[in-house]
Amino acid sequence: MLAVVSVQNLINLAYLVAAVLFIYGLKGLTHPRTAVRGNLLGALAMLIAVVVTLWDQHVIGWSWICGGIVVGSAIGAYLAVKVEMTGMPELVALYNGFGGIASVLVAGAWLLSGNGDHVIHDPTGALGAFDLVGKPEHSAALMQGTIAAAASGLIGGVTLLGSLVAYGKLAGIKWVPEGAFLPQQKVINAVLVLIALALCYFTVTDILNPTQAPAEASAATAAIFTTHSGLYYTGICIIAFVLGVTLVTPIGGADMPVVIALLNSYSGLAAAATGFVINNNVLIIAGSLVGASGLILTSIMCKAMNRSLWNVMFATMGPSSSSATADEVYAGKIKSTSGEEIAMLLETARRVVIIPGYGMAVSQAQHAVRDLANLLESKFGANVDYAIHPVAGRMPGHMNVLLAEANIPYDKLREMDNINPEMDQVDVAIVIGANDVVNPVARTDPKSPIAGMPIIDADKARTVIVIKRSLSPGYAGIPNPLFAADNALMFFADGKKAFQEIIEALKEA
Ligand code: NDP
Repeated sequence: MLAVVSVQNLINLAYLVAAVLFIYGLKGLTHPRTAVRGNLLGALAMLIAVVVTLWDQHVIGWSWICGGIVVGSAIGAYLAVKVEMTGMPELVALYNGFGGIASVLVAGAWLLSGNGDHVIHDPTGALGAFDLVGKPEHSAALMQGTIAAAASGLIGGVTLLGSLVAYGKLAGIKWVPEGAFLPQQKVINAVLVLIALALCYFTVTDILNPTQAPAEASAATAAIFTTHSGLYYTGICIIAFVLGVTLVTPIGGADMPVVIALLNSYSGLAAAATGFVINNNVLIIAGSLVGASGLILTSIMCKAMNRSLWNVMFATMGPSSSSATADEVYAGKIKSTSGEEIAMLLETARRVVIIPGYGMAVSQAQHAVRDLANLLESKFGANVDYAIHPVAGRMPGHMNVLLAEANIPYDKLREMDNINPEMDQVDVAIVIGANDVVNPVARTDPKSPIAGMPIIDADKARTVIVIKRSLSPGYAGIPNPLFAADNALMFFADGKKAFQEIIEALKEA
């Protein structure tokens, strides 16, 4: 008995350590300087949680546990090396989906493996875990597990298919054509949610009041009861899969950051629910942390885009027919420039602000960007800052990560709200591969897909240099009047090559 108690204590202690490490890991992730350590702490916590849980369940031996760790680590290492920085959001979307399907499968397995379809009532109490019906204290546990399993199926199913759709959008794959949706889709979605909730209710009531099987099926000491909970659970999952597709597909591309943060939160909630299903404290804690932090991130992203979550989820986005076309915005108004001309402008500039966007990530220009800033400061005495928009690039913190990789000091990275009041004192603003986050249409066209999104006020600088390869639109798919502004010059080139050209020209000056 003593040995059993101390083993249980050890397991709980390991879970406590894992929970504390998760919390410290999350705290570390709040700043680029401590982010790597935070990530490692989180990974260590997950390792402890997974190994202790598998060991505690006595289902698989050490060879399987070690084999799983080796295979999982190899896949993780391969993806970490292979996937480009620009492909990270797709990877995050896939990971969210994996979290969702894991919850669906674990909760489903719990329901179907005896706690669901066949609930055995054993008057002698010899059948242990299956002996749940008819004992009030066990009925409460069964009810908790079944409610949590239904929640896991519903949230996990939406997360899986929603994440696959989000992955497709980010990777440019259209799984479902937009025209496949009916005009009354929102009403249909609401009905589907109601049906799924009804199925959740039936799953719980059915498992608590199972039907007794015919007498000949009963064992000597145990009566076998059957339920339809497995069938109901399958129905919940199918509806959740459909909802994942119908809820996420119509959401506008420019809102994908919010959707990914929200799906991240859903995957955490599904995991926490699954923790209640299998009575695993560390899964409840880890899932709740992911759920809460995903929700906080969603709220920060909504604020950064000046949108309510309701508006993001349910307003139909896309360029409005009243928005100006590219020809109307650009025709005859674009002034292109060269590396030498830009170098001449920069030689006399006192205050320079670099505004990076997705194109800097694509061209991997962060090191060239740092070299130009260092040159301007050391040779020409300029003051160079970086203006960071919260949704620049394709994932939260995308620009911070790239610039930190190039060892740019953190105090040079200025947040949008912090630098915008100073933009009218800036001599030269260099926009590299940013488009939507500097598009003044956000302020002027209430029908535009980015209406109301706060932007970096690049247009207020004395001169704006925009470096990109063409006049192609950004993620939101709309033209940008900044490129045609009187104070704007376009340098059509790959971001990295453009910076290298400017550096060469400045060195020769
Ligand atoms: P945008 O997507 O608006 O624009 C990027 C620009 O980069 C394009 O216009 C493209 O023009 C240019 N570009 C691409 N490759 C290169 C290259 N090799 N060299 C130079 N330029 C290049 O990016 P922003 O960062 O301004 O805005 C981010 C957008 O993405 C927002 O709409 C945001 O909502 C959305 N989003 C953000 C996420 C996040 O979490 N941060 C996640 C998902 C979406 P060209 O082809 O002419 O070179």
